[in-house]
Amino acid sequence: MIVDRQGRRFRNLRISLTAACNYACTYCVPDGKRLVAAQDELSAEAMVRGVTYLIEAAGIERLRITGGEPLVSPKLEPLLRGVGQLGLADISLTSNGQLLSRKLPLLLEAGIRRLNISLDTLDAEDFRKIARGGDLASVLDGLEQARAAGLKIKINMVPLRGQNLVQAVPLLEYCLERGFELRFIELMRMGHLARDPNAFLQQFVGMPELLARIGERYSYVQAEAPLDATALRYEIPGKGFFGVIANESVPFCRTCSRLRLSSTGWLHGCLSSSNRHYIGDLLDKPRHQALPALQRLLVKALADKQEVAFSGGVTVMKIIGG
Ligand code: SAM
Repeated sequence: MIVDRQGRRFRNLRISLTAACNYACTYCVPDGKRLVAAQDELSAEAMVRGVTYLIEAAGIERLRITGGEPLVSPKLEPLLRGVGQLGLADISLTSNGQLLSRKLPLLLEAGIRRLNISLDTLDAEDFRKIARGGDLASVLDGLEQARAAGLKIKINMVPLRGQNLVQAVPLLEYCLERGFELRFIELMRMGHLARDPNAFLQQFVGMPELLARIGERYSYVQAEAPLDATALRYEIPGKGFFGVIANESVPFCRTCSRLRLSSTGWLHGCLSSSNRHYIGDLLDKPRHQALPALQRLLVKALADKQEVAFSGGVTVMKIIGG
C-alpha cells in the first residue's frame, strides 16, 4: 500500500468515462462548446483492467463513474458489467441526469444503488443559461423515476452569485421533501476560472454565506461524516440532511483519498495539480509487468496532493470528472 507522510492513501477512484457531455455548463467549459469524446479514449475493457490493477496496486475500495457525461457513452454498459465483477465495496455514478430515465434500467440491472445528480436550479430558464444544453423537465422526470426505483440520491449544486444563489433554499426543500441529500459544491478555480480570478471571485459563494442563508429558514446541526469525506454534513432535525463541499472555506486536502483516471488514460492524484501520469500503455500489459510500473506512478500521483489547501488548477473538470 502506498501511504504518504500525512498518512494519506488512495481509496476512492473516479473514472471519467468520456470527455463528451450534452451540457456545456458556464463554470465548467469557457466557450459554450460541448466537449466531444477524445480520439484516444480508453476502451471499456482497458478501463476495467485499469480498475483491476488499481485495486491491487493502490488499494482502491470505492469507484465513482463520472465524465464528461457518463450516460452519453456507449462504454457505460460494458464498463458497468466489468467493474461489477471486481468486488468493490461501492460503485456509484455522477451524472447530469438528462438521460436518467432512459438509462435507469441499465443502472439498476448493473447493481447501481447510489447516484449523484448535478442540478443547479429548479428554474427552467436559468437552467438553460447555466447548462447551455438539456432541459430541466427531463432531469426532474429521471429523478422521480430513480427515486421510485429506490435509488439513494444526492444532488450536486454549485451556488453561483447572481445566477442561482436564490435557488439554494428552494433546491434544499425540493431535496428534503424527496429524501435526497443536497450537496452544495463551492465553486472551484478550475479550467478557465483558474486563469481568470475576477470571473471566479464574482461568482464564488462560500460556505458561511450559504449556511447563513439556510439558517434564516431552518435550524441545523452538524452531522457525522466519514473521516475522508469531502463534504461537511448537516442535519435539519426531522427533515433530513445536506452537505457542503467547501473546497475553499474548509479545505479537505489533509484527508483526501481520491485518485482520478481520465478517459484518455491519465492518472491525476490531485485536482489542484497540473501533474498527470499516463497509464494507458500499461493496460495492455500482463499484471506482473504492469503493477510495478503502476506503483511507481502512484507514488508520484500521491506526492501531487496539496499539503493543506486546494488552490485550483487549469485542468477542465470535464476531462477528469470533477
Ligand atoms: N456530467 C456529470 C455531471 O454533470 O455531474 C459529471 C461530470 S461534472 C464535471 C461533475 C461535477 O463537477 C458536477 O457536479 C459539476 O457541477 C461539478 N463542477 C464542474 N466544474 C466545477 C467547478 N469549477 N467548481 C465546482 N464544481 C464543478
